[in-house]
Amino acid sequence: MENAITVPGTRHSFVEIDLQAIKDNVAWLGSLTKPGTRQMAVIKGDAYGHGAVQVAKALQNQVSRFGVANVDEAIELREAGVTLPIMVFGVPTPETAPVYQSYDLTASVSHLSQFEILPDGVEAHVHFDTGMGRLGLRPDQLSEVLEVINQSRVNVVGVMSHFPCADDPESELSARQLERFRSLAAEFPEHYERHIHNTGGILYHYSPDCTMVRHGIGIYGYDPGPQPRKELQPALTWKSRVVQSKPLKKGESISYGARWKADRDGWLVTVPVGYADGLPRNLTGKISYLLEGQKVPVRGVISMDYTMLFSDHQIEPGTEVTVMGPKGDDARKLAEASDTITYELLTRIAEKVPRKHIL
Ligand SMILES: *Cc1c(COP(=O)(O)O)cnc(C)c1O
Repeated sequence: MENAITVPGTRHSFVEIDLQAIKDNVAWLGSLTKPGTRQMAVIKGDAYGHGAVQVAKALQNQVSRFGVANVDEAIELREAGVTLPIMVFGVPTPETAPVYQSYDLTASVSHLSQFEILPDGVEAHVHFDTGMGRLGLRPDQLSEVLEVINQSRVNVVGVMSHFPCADDPESELSARQLERFRSLAAEFPEHYERHIHNTGGILYHYSPDCTMVRHGIGIYGYDPGPQPRKELQPALTWKSRVVQSKPLKKGESISYGARWKADRDGWLVTVPVGYADGLPRNLTGKISYLLEGQKVPVRGVISMDYTMLFSDHQIEPGTEVTVMGPKGDDARKLAEASDTITYELLTRIAEKVPRKHIL
């Protein structure tokens, strides 16, 4: 091992978030909607792995509210000083109901029983399941819902629904849902907020009679549909630094299972990113990193904390490597190779991987 180069100390990976790209993406998505349409930035899942607090702060003058999955995520934002309205998509429970009042959160009401547990005066939107098959009231409960709202001290100010197939430009279900939603919304007072569009909804099934849109994946630079879209810029770049580079002889193998063998003499380059950091192991044999401006295939099985490259020349420890990002393979490409969706790839980047925000 006399030729091994090892750097003392441990190096890990890190994520860079381009907040300007996020702001530009929001502006572009907003430009597709009717003037005056309110914009909700969906920042659940730690802003799809981009850091909810920093994304919220970057967007607070550009959108009119934020959407999160649960009260914990909302509390994190409030504690960090975010003052814009925040809607919690999840269901209020007896335990979480008081939090809506103390942290000034907007509830999404999915079941009639939730009117009884929410404190007086809490702002809420009624959520109808027009075809999502998840949360929400049934449309055939409409008259009951109207009655309960009349008697409730919960402050209902909106009606909402959600698309399960908005990423499919051909989706007939989305068209049917829009019709159902329009006829439901017509039964509520004029001043109610009405919203159903996520990113795919805006891009493929837009209808201007809604007063608000809720964009998520598009903010982060990804079109959920069949093709990437040049107007959206992926905001996240995942980087690491080489920890070690040492000679590898022809015929010698790399990583568990000894599955990959060098067909010539060269250098084994070890990068401290693995599946414990959120890089799916099933990307083994399918991805490349950017090293010194070149795409270099990942060799051998992806292990818990490391991935390896093969190089024809020695690489200095500390050399930067791009694991994922718009200049190399972005989250969409990795998701396709991993047989999943961009959303999952982004949100599974481990919390321990530090996020660095750049404006
Ligand atoms: C996640 C979510 C969105 C955003 O969806 P994207 O496809 O990421 O744009 C909108 N509305 C609700 C209720 C959601 O849960």
